[in-house]
Amino acid sequence: MATNTLDDREEDDYSETESALETALRQLSAAATQVDVDDGIIERLKHPTRVVEVGVPLKRDDGSVEVFTGYRAQHDDVRGPYKGGLRFHPDVTAEECVGLSMWMTWKCAVMDLPFGGAKGGVVVNPKDLSTGEKERLTRRFAEEIRDTIGPKRDIPAPDMGTDAQTMAWFMDAYSMQEGETIPGVVTGKPPVIGGSEGREEAPGRSVAIIAREALQYYDIDVDEATVAVQGFGSVGANAARLLDDWGADVVAVSDVNGAAYDTTGLDTHAVPSHEEQPEAVMQYDAPNMLTNEEVLELDVDVLIPAAIGNVLTADNADDVQADIVVEGANGPTTSAADTILEERDVPVIPDILANAGGVTVSYFEWLQDINRRQWSLERVNDELESHMLSAWDDVRREVEAGDVSWRDAAYVVALGRVGEAKASRGLWP
Ligand code: GLU
Repeated sequence: MATNTLDDREEDDYSETESALETALRQLSAAATQVDVDDGIIERLKHPTRVVEVGVPLKRDDGSVEVFTGYRAQHDDVRGPYKGGLRFHPDVTAEECVGLSMWMTWKCAVMDLPFGGAKGGVVVNPKDLSTGEKERLTRRFAEEIRDTIGPKRDIPAPDMGTDAQTMAWFMDAYSMQEGETIPGVVTGKPPVIGGSEGREEAPGRSVAIIAREALQYYDIDVDEATVAVQGFGSVGANAARLLDDWGADVVAVSDVNGAAYDTTGLDTHAVPSHEEQPEAVMQYDAPNMLTNEEVLELDVDVLIPAAIGNVLTADNADDVQADIVVEGANGPTTSAADTILEERDVPVIPDILANAGGVTVSYFEWLQDINRRQWSLERVNDELESHMLSAWDDVRREVEAGDVSWRDAAYVVALGRVGEAKASRGLWP
């Protein structure tokens, strides 16, 4: 499969339909100017190691057969096995998987985890599948990419459209074919089969921790802060509820249908999350309703886009009134929006730091699987907190030292670590 690199594109062609790969390549090129890493290493990092494409045949409930396309993109494994989620989504493309796999490389490096970056998925709308169809599709996909993955090679995890049950089917299919139970082949499993306590909540928890640190950095008390959250799935709901518990006023939360808005703060635990009841935010009895897009323009202390990519664009970045943006989703800010927000002095705390709690607890899960020893929820949350604070400090030091944006600072930390590892291992042959 051919993937475009920035060399093939106009650097300043800021398209609003920018793909994850375009954004990731722009960010890499920007970071490369700030870090002392050999050009040859930067060139290698612009390309994935491999992209595997498979056909996944599925017998539908009505007896007909349909073939879906699946991908696994592996970007880099210089620091350890490839790691990253699997999505079931109609918009999945090879190019998107490559872009997202690059972000996983940086996310693992900024957290100092011994993993590289990967991402994969199946081009399918999971809403169109029955539970049985989803199970058969997952098992067959696991079989089709079995040679590409493995507990020491590449470890998938949940992402958009997949969850703990998907990972349980995936682990079972892999284990059945390998002839032994291998829980460490995927993370994000149910705890009863080797999943970690706290994994489900972890990306939202890390977003809340980073939002709290960012508020403190900009001299705003968390219990006086106002917060707006776009997206009320696992990331958005967990982040909103934790910040609410820590005293912040979460004034708006949204799903695809619209937003519940209360200037005095919502009872976030009473708003149904996507997992509790899909797309039911509007059932909450809020004094005001907004559209999903209006949430992005509220005058709040912290805005958390936690739904999908490319929601902050050149069209609305000038209208963002939040003092701080904390990225809950992967890639919610286009390059053009990033530039506008930077010019307007609106700090954007990047996804590769803010939502990295997911892959961090995946790492804890992998350690628990290898050691066949479960950690308590308290231990998971304590270790997550200390990993997040240490990554925050590493990035903050770069912001202070280099007068760079939070995103550039996170890339400097990540690229520095990956570049050093590559330089040390060299190029073979
Ligand atoms: N899909 C999640 C992410 O984007 C988690 C990946 C993982 O745990 O490996 O960070």
